[in-house]
Amino acid sequence: MKDKIKQDIYAVFEELVKISRFLFENPEIGYQEFKAAEILGESLKKHGFKVEKGVCAIPTAFRAVYGGKKEGPRVAFLCEYDALPGIGHGCGHNLIAAMGLGAGIGLRAVIDELGGSIVVMGTPAEETSGAKVSLVEGGFFEDVDLAMMAHPGPSTQESGPSLALNALQFEFTGKAAHAAEAPEKGINALNAVIQLFNGINALRQHVPGDVRIHGVITEGGKAANIVPDYTTAQFYIRAAKRQRRDEVTEKVVACARGAAMMTGVKMKFSNFEISYDDLKTNSIMSDLFTVNLKELGEKEVRKGQLVAASLDMGNVSQVVPSIHPWIGLGNLDLVLHTQEFADTTITKRGEEAIFKGACAMAMTAYDIIASKEIMERIKKEFTKK
Ligand SMILES: [Zn+2]
Ligand SMILES: [Zn+2]
Repeated sequence: MKDKIKQDIYAVFEELVKISRFLFENPEIGYQEFKAAEILGESLKKHGFKVEKGVCAIPTAFRAVYGGKKEGPRVAFLCEYDALPGIGHGCGHNLIAAMGLGAGIGLRAVIDELGGSIVVMGTPAEETSGAKVSLVEGGFFEDVDLAMMAHPGPSTQESGPSLALNALQFEFTGKAAHAAEAPEKGINALNAVIQLFNGINALRQHVPGDVRIHGVITEGGKAANIVPDYTTAQFYIRAAKRQRRDEVTEKVVACARGAAMMTGVKMKFSNFEISYDDLKTNSIMSDLFTVNLKELGEKEVRKGQLVAASLDMGNVSQVVPSIHPWIGLGNLDLVLHTQEFADTTITKRGEEAIFKGACAMAMTAYDIIASKEIMERIKKEFTKK
């Protein structure tokens, strides 16, 4: 049956490449991916999927379902298709979309006989406020048993952990006054921001090595001769696990409270972007994926390593057994989020990545659905951790 999967993906390969190229030529940033959602939705419809557009009140999200004729696990393949401002598909999400689509079409070739069902999920805005978080909260993964996506990268690498992230904004409100003539009448909101940075810098000495805290002053006052009455700063707080992220976040907030108290200003804080959870890779799924990739001719698959970034797939992986492997584009010097990376997605190597990623995902889904025992082990690992 794996040959059937490969054959069916090969049969639509030109279409997959065309769609990836279309996305490359029409890059759309997060929540503006109307053309991408349209072209992917239309293709899925053509290949027998029931497509719902604008799910979860997100106009550019979609869910495409192929029911299958027999009972069995439901597998989700996730498509990302948002681009980066200025450099288009510098993160290669055009390839992710084509791989997810191809995997859905490939698995469809055998699912009636095999049992189970397929969902291809269109998940916008990974680069900013990832829609996967809303889709998880909206219950769109409640009926899903397995979730997979594949991301292009410099090298082929197993799915590894990613950092959990909180995005916090602090606002300080003081009182304006002439900075030279009546400084005693002013309450300096800039001092509060500076004290917040000082507090966080002191905290840095006492956090575990996986923690990352980095921020900017987004408003620092208007003129040097006016005591700043309003300032804002934004921070990302990251850690290997979401629990640690939340513990450190509390300490950062305490720094802000202290800074406000020291300077006499009012402080408010809020999440300026959605929080991402850490990625919990299911090792059984990941191992099967690697075996399939090697079967497809991939020579070197690197061990999964911590991605020192944060992915909205993390939130999916907390509710459904998941993998987020990396498919190499054959150049170790490539750097994500660059024009060079974007340009590589439309070369032969980019096209090969679509085929390999799509086949390996569909073949992995096949392995799991075909064996109740494997499915049980996957569930056991998922609930244990
Ligand atoms: Zn990216
Ligand atoms: Zn990406």
